[in-house]
Amino acid sequence: MAKDGEAARAEAILAAGRICGERNERLTRLRRIVLEILLERDGPLKAYEILEALRDAGRRVPPATVYRILEFLLAQGFVHRVNALNAYVACSGGHAGRRQLLLVCSVCRKTSEIVDPAFYRSLLGKLGELGFSLAGGGVEIQGICPCCVHA
Ligand SMILES: [Zn+2]
Ligand SMILES: [Zn+2]
Repeated sequence: MAKDGEAARAEAILAAGRICGERNERLTRLRRIVLEILLERDGPLKAYEILEALRDAGRRVPPATVYRILEFLLAQGFVHRVNALNAYVACSGGHAGRRQLLLVCSVCRKTSEIVDPAFYRSLLGKLGELGFSLAGGGVEIQGICPCCVHA
């Protein structure tokens, strides 16, 4: 299990590097480390928790730098912002678009993603009919995850 997780993380980092290359962007060492921290953590992290993880890894980085890095990772679609928690989570969906559909558990605060482009399009279509546009690009649904329901 741990090894699978590690392999998946390594793959996600490689994919991120490749995507950056295709877009003429650079996955700098610090950007990569922040992405690794988010991939390692099995759930969303607040910016100050990312700062602490960086400090634990021996890197003292000013908060403004961390925010800039998060902006970059968000813009590339590697990371999503979880507005309900004021936190950030690594994308687990592997979806091509930058829009996400996140389920947020209000008990354990873990998130999961629904990757279903047809469903997303139909949702956006409905919102469009109502003249309602999404702030922040994504949709969040708050509820209770299966683990917490059965706890
Ligand atoms: Zn995602
Ligand atoms: Zn939960």
